[in-house]
Amino acid sequence: MPLQLYDTYSRQKRDFHPADPSRVTMYLCGPTVYSYAHIGNARPAVVFDVLYRVLRQTYGADHVAYARNITDVDDKINAAAKEGGVSISVIAEKFAKIYREDTAALNVLKPDFEPTATGHMKEMIALVQRLIETGNAYEAEGHVLFDVTSFDGYGELSNRKLKDMIAGARVEVASYKHNPADFVLWKPADDNDPGWKSPWGRGRPGWHLECSAMIEAVLGTRIDIHAGGQDLVFPHHENERAQSMCSHDGKRLANYWLHNGFLDFDSEKMSKSLGNVKLIHELLEEWPGEVLRFALLSAHYRAPLDWTRSLLEQAKTTLDRYYGTLRRLSDVKAAKASAPANFMAALHDDLNTPQALAKLSTLATQANKAEKPEEQARAKGEMLAIGKLLGLFEEDPETWFKTDKGLGDKDLDAAAIDALVAARVQARADKDWGEADRIRDVLSEMDIVIEDKAEGSIWRRG
Ligand code: AMP
Ligand code: ZN
Repeated sequence: MPLQLYDTYSRQKRDFHPADPSRVTMYLCGPTVYSYAHIGNARPAVVFDVLYRVLRQTYGADHVAYARNITDVDDKINAAAKEGGVSISVIAEKFAKIYREDTAALNVLKPDFEPTATGHMKEMIALVQRLIETGNAYEAEGHVLFDVTSFDGYGELSNRKLKDMIAGARVEVASYKHNPADFVLWKPADDNDPGWKSPWGRGRPGWHLECSAMIEAVLGTRIDIHAGGQDLVFPHHENERAQSMCSHDGKRLANYWLHNGFLDFDSEKMSKSLGNVKLIHELLEEWPGEVLRFALLSAHYRAPLDWTRSLLEQAKTTLDRYYGTLRRLSDVKAAKASAPANFMAALHDDLNTPQALAKLSTLATQANKAEKPEEQARAKGEMLAIGKLLGLFEEDPETWFKTDKGLGDKDLDAAAIDALVAARVQARADKDWGEADRIRDVLSEMDIVIEDKAEGSIWRRG
C-alpha cells in the first residue's frame, strides 16, 4: 500500500507523490524559543519525526530534505529578554538548546535544516519588497500589510470565506489597515526593542512572513509537505500560503498540509492559567524519553490526545514487555528484516500509529513464542526494524531495566494496575515466565496481590 496522507487543504486522504523523488521536501513550524517547551509542543516534533523516518526509508536518507525552524524573533522573546536584562539572542539560544536536548531525549532525529528568523532577515525584507511590487502588500504608518483582497485563494486552506472573516473581524483592527483581515508583514520596532534596518524604517518581520522566507531559503518555492499543529491552520498557515503563492506567480506552496491534533492534560486544555502545563524536561526527570514518545504515538496524530498519568504508566508497562522480549533474545543475532507488511500498511494509512503499535504487540507475542533460532532471529529483526521507524528500542535492554524512572512510586491507579495485570496474563500466555514473575514482583512491591483463577487473573490491594 502506498503512503497516504490526510491533506488539510483538499480535506481528504491522498496518495503521497513527491514532486521530485530525489528531493522530498518537508517543513515543520518549529518552536518559539522564549521558554521551556511543553509536552504538547513535543507532539508535532515526534509524530512528524515518524513521517521523516518513513520518507527516509522510502526515498533514501539523502533524498529527504526536512526543515524545522526556530522562531527567534517574537514579542514573547522580547519580553523574556527584558525581564532577564539580557539580549534576545541569550534567551533564544538558551531555549533552542534546551529544545534540541528535550527532543533528542525523545529520539527525535535532527532535521536536515534548522533555519532561524534572525539568520534570514535579508530574505524576509526581499520577500516583503516583492509582495509590494506585485501589488499584494502596502505600506502604512511604518507597517507593511498584506492585502487579503488581492489573493482570490485567501481562506481556502482553513475553509473560511473572506467576507465572513471581515464581518467577524476577530483579528485586530488598526487604523492603518485597509481591511480588518489584512495582516502584518513588517512592523516598526520600539527604540528599546530589537529591530532591523529596512526600506520601511527600523522594524521586524511578522511571524507568518518568517516561515515563508525560511521555506524559500532552505527548501525552495514549492514543497511537498508542510506540517504543524492544528492551531496553526488559521491564521498562520493561511497567511504563509497567501504570501508564498503571491510571491511565486500563484504556484502552490505545499502539496500536502498536515496538522496534528491537540494534546490535553487530564481532559483539560493545557494552559498557564490552569497551572497544568507539563514541560518536557520535567517529565524527563520522571520518565524515560521512550515512554513519553510511546505515549505520544499511542493516539492517531490527528486525534486529540489526553495526557494522563495512566497513559504513561501503560506506555512504560508495554515498553517493559517489549524490552523484556529483546532481553530474552539478547543472544540471538537479529536477522536482516524489514518491518512486517501489516505494520507498514498501518503507517502508510496516514500514519496510523495506534494500529501500527497493535501489530508490534502481535509481533512481540510471536517473538516470545518462537522456539526455532531462525524464527527468533527473524522476529527480533522485525521488532528492531519497527523500532527504527517508530524511534523505539534505542536503549540496550539491560540498561532499560536498570532505570529508576517511571513506576517508581507506589501510587498506581486502577487502570495502570489493570494494564500491568493484563501484561502479566499476556506474558504467561507467551510462556514468558521471567517477565510474568517480574510483573508479579512489581505489583507485590506495591502491595497488589494477584490471584490466578480459571476465569482469569484478579487483583486486590494487599
Ligand atoms: P509554539 O512554540 O507555541 O509556536 O508551538 C510549537 C508547535 O507546537 C506548533 O506546531 C503548535 O501547533 C504545537 N502545539 C502547541 N501546543 C500544543 C498542544 N497542546 N498539543 C499539540 N500541539 C501543540
Ligand atoms: Zn510557520
